[in-house]
Amino acid sequence: LRRTRIQDLLTSTDLNREVLVKGWVRTRRGNKYVQFIALNDGSGLATIQVVADAEKFPEESLKEVTTGSCVAVRGQLVASQGKGQSIEVQATSIEVLGTADPEAYPLQKKATSLEHLREIAHLRPRTNTFGAVLRIRHALAFAVHDYFNRHGFYYVHTPIITGSDAEGAGQMFRVTTLPPEHPPRTEDGSVDYSQDFFGKQTNLTVSGQLEGELAAMALGQVYTFGPTFRAENSNTARHLAEFWMIEPEMAFYDLVDNMDLAEDFLQSLVRYALEHCAADLQFLNDTYDKELLARLRSVTDNAFQRLTYTEAVEILKSAKKKFEFPVDWGTDLQSEHERYLVEKHFQKPVILTNYPKEIKAFYMKLDEDGRTVRAMDVLFPGIGEIIGGSQREESLAKLETRMAEMHVPADELWWYLDTRRFGTAPHSGFGLGFERLVLFVTGMTNIRDVIPFPRFPKNAEF
Ligand code: ATP
Ligand code: MG
Ligand code: MG
Ligand code: MG
Repeated sequence: LRRTRIQDLLTSTDLNREVLVKGWVRTRRGNKYVQFIALNDGSGLATIQVVADAEKFPEESLKEVTTGSCVAVRGQLVASQGKGQSIEVQATSIEVLGTADPEAYPLQKKATSLEHLREIAHLRPRTNTFGAVLRIRHALAFAVHDYFNRHGFYYVHTPIITGSDAEGAGQMFRVTTLPPEHPPRTEDGSVDYSQDFFGKQTNLTVSGQLEGELAAMALGQVYTFGPTFRAENSNTARHLAEFWMIEPEMAFYDLVDNMDLAEDFLQSLVRYALEHCAADLQFLNDTYDKELLARLRSVTDNAFQRLTYTEAVEILKSAKKKFEFPVDWGTDLQSEHERYLVEKHFQKPVILTNYPKEIKAFYMKLDEDGRTVRAMDVLFPGIGEIIGGSQREESLAKLETRMAEMHVPADELWWYLDTRRFGTAPHSGFGLGFERLVLFVTGMTNIRDVIPFPRFPKNAEF
């Protein structure tokens, strides 16, 4: 007899047959005649009820069937008399595969706060909340690949160890094999990285974009979807030190094409989750955020608001709300400003374009006025920035000027400049923070709660 996933059993109409289920005990309750065990195996939110009659299973024989223990149950699949479920398993044998000492098991019945669960991140996937979040995360990751595959994009794997800092933001984690105590030094006393593993300074990638551009200039439409590392020195609910980024890069796309893609892509992903994760989303809606489903539907059903950075600054300056950081043309927008535009002013997702060149990266295409660049940020309710993207500068001369202005070392990026030197083409792309998407779709409020093993300052225990 082969094991059936509980989710498959619950949707089965084929009753009165022998089944084998395995999973973790959520609760056991009952009386001296009968015991009820609620079993979950992660295949869905629901538990199956296992009925153990005292004649066959005296209570003493079930003493190791406690919350958190793992059991294998054989029995008959039958219609249920009880409320709350339509079928149950009438047990004929119960084998305890792994015990869980009730004194020590941290996930007892009573609801545990999300803050506390963060400290036991290794066990929290056993809760309904994290089971739901991780299944939704999986579905969204799958939807990303499905979307691009259907639209003619190729998945390229960009390196995790790189010799460049794409954003020039100095948030890299160094990769080195030099002995920390006594690294080799050059004559002037600085560390001699020519003796390091790669013969130069290297770091964990902060973005796959530059390499993605190289691939787009050969394959047309590509995307990366991989781990990304930034030594974010702030402790926010929107930043992780290790996160997953989705970065499509497209030859022959201008900024409008780029915005159209970003909007359709985001709407498709949210729609996919609504269709494929209905039970998990309903649970999160009912448990944490009664507006969740309505918010998701409003994103799929309404066009995003598009406006320029300059127009947004005018709106923010004439807003009645007092911001912590005042806004002036030329300053980067803070999450309070982004959320005001999305949640108060427009009440829908917003795409802001044409930012001042000083606050954006060197590779963005300069506008005709010479002051702004063809950047776009997509802002979402409850999140703020979810996507950052741009049309890329395709002119070698203009790119070199921008790099010099921004002190980006052109000699180290000779390979990147070669794309402009040999058969350059207009092209565009963007980066979507995968965890920010999962945050939006699940309605969770802290990014540490949407990745199995969050990495943030002072936290890499497991
Ligand atoms: P922010 O302004 O929120 O710090 P950013 O402008 O520095 O973001 P980009 O370099 O534009 O980020 O990266 C593209 C996308 O990656 C962002 O829009 C966001 O969704 C996501 N992202 C950036 N940094 C992080 C992080 N530390 N943790 C999780 N997601 C991130
Ligand atoms: Mg940042
Ligand atoms: Mg930003
Ligand atoms: Mg950005």
